Amino acid sequence: MTYDVHIIGGGLAGSEAAWQLARRGFKVRLSEMRGASADKGGERSPAHQGDGLAELVCSNSFRSDDDEKNAVGLLHHEMRRCDSLIMAAAAKAQVPAGSALAVDRDAFSAEVESRLAALPNLDVVRERIDVLPQAGTTIVATGPLTAESLAHSIGAATGADSLAFFDAIAPIVYNDSIDMDVCWMASRWDKGETKDYINCPMNKEQYLAFHKGLVEGEKTSFKEWEANTPYFDGCMPIEVMAERGVETLRFGPMKPVGLDNPHWATPEHPNGRWAYAVVQLRQDNKLGTLWNMVGFQTKLKHAEQVRLFRTIPGLENAEFARLGGLHRNTFINSPVLLDRQLRLKTAPHVRFAGQITGCEGYVESAAVGLMAGLMTATELTGREWQAPPRTTALGALLSHITGDAEAEHYQPMNVNFGLFPPLHDVKKKQRKEAYTERAKEEIAPWLADLTPA
Ligand SMILES: Cc1cc2nc3c(=O)[nH]c(=O)nc-3n(C[C@H](O)[C@H](O)[C@H](O)COP(=O)(O)OP(=O)(O)OC[C@H]3O[C@@H](n4cnc5c(N)ncnc54)[C@H](O)[C@@H]3O)c2cc1C
Repeated sequence: MTYDVHIIGGGLAGSEAAWQLARRGFKVRLSEMRGASADKGGERSPAHQGDGLAELVCSNSFRSDDDEKNAVGLLHHEMRRCDSLIMAAAAKAQVPAGSALAVDRDAFSAEVESRLAALPNLDVVRERIDVLPQAGTTIVATGPLTAESLAHSIGAATGADSLAFFDAIAPIVYNDSIDMDVCWMASRWDKGETKDYINCPMNKEQYLAFHKGLVEGEKTSFKEWEANTPYFDGCMPIEVMAERGVETLRFGPMKPVGLDNPHWATPEHPNGRWAYAVVQLRQDNKLGTLWNMVGFQTKLKHAEQVRLFRTIPGLENAEFARLGGLHRNTFINSPVLLDRQLRLKTAPHVRFAGQITGCEGYVESAAVGLMAGLMTATELTGREWQAPPRTTALGALLSHITGDAEAEHYQPMNVNFGLFPPLHDVKKKQRKEAYTERAKEEIAPWLADLTPA
């Protein structure tokens, strides 16, 4: 068969994109390297255990299914309304997990596979693709553990600096949970013109206790295949730095010099005084709702991060949009490389989808696959693509990937309400419901306008 679209990678994103396209009558070739014979480059990533499509490599949970107060629950809701394969298969394979959506992973993968197999215009071809296709409508959905050969080819096409192989993420805090009566805005050696950072001051006692907490805190361990991945400059875990000596952080990410704290102003120091150590947060999205803890990439266990980071003055009530972590992860600098339709600006016949775009998580990866499928279908039909409204979970995620994220420090991100246009005039307690209500209302006309299946 001659294909309309070539999708590379039969994971969550690739399977979802294939479903959206094939259901609309397009002829799809879905290439998956697992299960291929040796001469076709058969290979499994170090995390995959089998050859089934849409294998869940770790947890069996799609996280919260609450579509009234939770951003990922809202994403489930929107995907269901788009006739998502991943959501339908999850419903079929669901196991009890309270308010979370969890599945029997084998039944889930089998359901994805059988639904795709039932589509006559879709071929699942077991083969590894080593080179980015030069022509033909293509979707690359090869995930965080993309085969090395293809990763090399993507690197060559995008520029080596635009492809990351390691994900060293620092926690991200919701702006409205930071206590600005304690923290202050300033850049180092600020002359008043650029107050770009939120600064949290520590005295000596607080710093020493914090340092001890970092050194003694419980860490997650590297998987065997991750252990040999070296730390790159600039992504050394904060606790590893702390282990090098009690002063190391004060000369590194917690350097206090040049930061006058106006809350500590005295008649002799009217501009304020320097703290013993400072934690800095940098704006992470254009909306200014999310702030990244600079240099705080960490392998501390999540509960430990919350406990310890809430001892930082000004962050006592911090709400985290994302916690820190370090693991192998191939992803491109999407805000720079992709247009608003997930197309490579320099080679628009190629779209990217799934975790390789810099979203994070099963659901987000599938959602980006879903949108890549819809965009491709719209393009092939000669219609004009309308992006989902920014106020929806799909729209917020897409906007983040394709332009709203801070490109210089682009790091993978789960869907969260910090990506949504803020509703400042709604009381904080009611805000989550207000976000989901608004999204549900605004997605309706967009859905009505989609290329029909
Ligand atoms: C170790 C690990 C654990 C994770 N745990 C979780 C978790 O618990 N919860 C969560 O929400 N997210 C988790 N993630 C993050 C992420 O959401 C998942 O990895 C998710 O599967 C990504 O979906 P995807 O479709 O982008 O990639 P994948 O699901 O990985 O699919 C990519 C597919 O492409 C294939 N492929 C790769 N290269 C080629 C090639 N050159 N040619 C042909 N096929 C190729 C792969 O075999 C794979 O089937 C984890 C990631 C990793 C690496």
